[in-house]
This record gives sequence, structure tokens and C-alpha cells, in this order.
Amino acid sequence: MEGSEQMANIEWRQVTFHYPDSEAPALSQLNLSVHAGEFVVICGPSGGGKSTLLRLLKREVSPGGRLAGTILLDGVEVQHLSPKAAASAIGLVMQHPDNQLVVGVVEHELAFGMENLGMPRSLMQRRMAEIAGFFGLEPLLSRSVDELSGGQKMTVNLASVLMLQPQVLLLDEPLAQLDPLAARELLGLIKRLNDEWGITVIMSEHRIDDLLPLADRIVRLERGAIGFD
Ligand code: ADP
Repeated sequence: MEGSEQMANIEWRQVTFHYPDSEAPALSQLNLSVHAGEFVVICGPSGGGKSTLLRLLKREVSPGGRLAGTILLDGVEVQHLSPKAAASAIGLVMQHPDNQLVVGVVEHELAFGMENLGMPRSLMQRRMAEIAGFFGLEPLLSRSVDELSGGQKMTVNLASVLMLQPQVLLLDEPLAQLDPLAARELLGLIKRLNDEWGITVIMSEHRIDDLLPLADRIVRLERGAIGFD
């Protein structure tokens, strides 16, 4: 890759994906590159393939089915990443935080991923302080997740994903369940993560009005293929 322009951080190369028993592919010979540090919004109609595109990158939640083509993270096929590298390099935030929040108390929620990867306690505490500060979560650390508003749950979810310091943050329609104010606050946080921490952001969303001023690129996915980029 020497001498080339900025290295593509993520690349879907000729990706075709069929869910089991479905004849039409959910993604069809799709080519897309996202550079390190970009903020990309994937839009398009429901069923267009946004969620499938994101999940194929995150091995732990990859759908079962037939995959052709390659998906690369910094030039390495995601299937070949070690489980630890795959878990920490790529963070995923889904639409329903309740499906991702697992342990109850906010502080434990933040620690959960790092504990799973066996990270040292001192590092965990340092990162917890940093992340809680960034997200303004200090007052909520000892609260139970059940007591939080939808927007707060989403923030905790995002914060817990960032505890593992991913290079890439995937968000699958994160605004869908939020009221307009909470959605704007979440977007502000995501933009700051992109600007200040240089995290690559790939986010799916069908209402793009609020995103136009924030995103570097808008990609429209229709019937599993790129409609425009
Ligand atoms: P979007 O996120 O843009 O709404 P999806 O990636 O969820 O699109 O869906 C793309 C296509 O794949 C749709 O035709 C959808 O019906 C199909 N699909 C999604 N999930 C499954 C599944 N678990 N089993 C079978 N087909 C699925």
C-alpha cells in the first residue's frame, strides 16, 4: 500500500449476501470503501440492506447466510481477525439499547466488555473515568439502567461500546427510538467522537435531514446496491 493515498479503513469488495432460503440477495455485488476518520451515513428505504451491510462487518452479530466477496478492515479480511481484535476494533450500537444492555447498573455496564476481554482493573478504571467524563455519565454510574430514559440508555450503550476504544463505530438506526431532543444530543456526541477522537463512523438512518451538516458522505442503499454515493 506504500505510496497510495490514505489507506481505506474499511472495504466491502464485490459483496453479495443471501439470507438462508431467500432467492433475492440482501446485498448485490456491493463495493464501498470508507476511509479512516470519515463520517458516513448509509440511508435508503427499509429493506435496502443497511443493517445487513453493517452486521457483516461485525463478526459477533454477522447474519448466517451465503457471503461472496470480501470485507476488509485495514486490508485484513474481517473473518481472519482474532476474536479479541474483532471485538475491540469494531464497535456496534444497535437501535434498541435494551437488547445490548445486559448487566443492570451503569458502571457495570461500562465495565462489561473490558471484563470479558480480561483487561486489567487499573486500565478499566482509567478508561471508565475518561468515558464517563466525556459522556457526562458520572451522576448515573450507580443507577440501574432500567431507571434511565431512552436517550440516557442509548448514551450508556454508546459509552460501553467506546470503552473498548474501537477504530470504527457502527450505528444501526440509533435515532429511531429517540425523541428529537435526545436524537440531537446523541448526534452531537457522535460528531464529537468523530472530530475529537478520529473514530470512523458509519451510521444507518433513513431520516437524513439532521445528518446532512454532520456527515462527510451520504451513501444510499437500494435493494442491496449503492443508489448514490
Ligand atoms: P435495512 O436495514 O435497510 O432495512 P436489511 O439489511 O434489514 O435492510 O434487509 C435487507 C434485505 O434482507 C431485506 O429484503 C430483508 O427482508 C432481508 N432480511 C433481513 N434480515 C433477514 C433475515 N434474518 N432473514 C431473511 N431475510 C432477511
